[in-house]
Amino acid sequence: MPGQMKYYNADIVFQEVPDEISLAVNITNCPNDCIGCHSMYLHEDIGIVLTDNEVDRMLKPYIGSITCFCIMGGDACRSEVEHVADYVKTKYRLKVAWYSGQYRMPDNISSFDYIKLGPYVKEKGGLRSKNTNQLFFQIDNGTAIDITHVFWK
Ligand code: SF4
Repeated sequence: MPGQMKYYNADIVFQEVPDEISLAVNITNCPNDCIGCHSMYLHEDIGIVLTDNEVDRMLKPYIGSITCFCIMGGDACRSEVEHVADYVKTKYRLKVAWYSGQYRMPDNISSFDYIKLGPYVKEKGGLRSKNTNQLFFQIDNGTAIDITHVFWK
């Protein structure tokens, strides 16, 4: 399914998803309005359209060295996020995480292994802060289990 969801860049990360080596893909056109946003450039309509072919091209160098595909953002195109999640899970058998800046669960949580919900609030801090407003879930057999505490070691 060709879409218009775009990404700016992708990086290997170790801390966003516990115990996973993730390729984190930064989606642009962010519709959220977090005060103290750490990535204002992600509000712009920039980057490359994340088609299935682009996912293939992006993943090619990393097959065998990553365990998770982490979609950072994409709240403006939720159905495309779910499509990419399904595509990566089915074709590459990788785990899939979604970092959303909103509190709304996707329609089909089974497309994901991990879901982070909630906007960034500077005074509350991110997931590593015990005061955080953000929530991190592991999806297990269609059930979302709040495991935010794993970031508080
Ligand atoms: S979700 Fe919030 S912190 Fe992330 S890019 Fe959008 S406004 Fe910025």
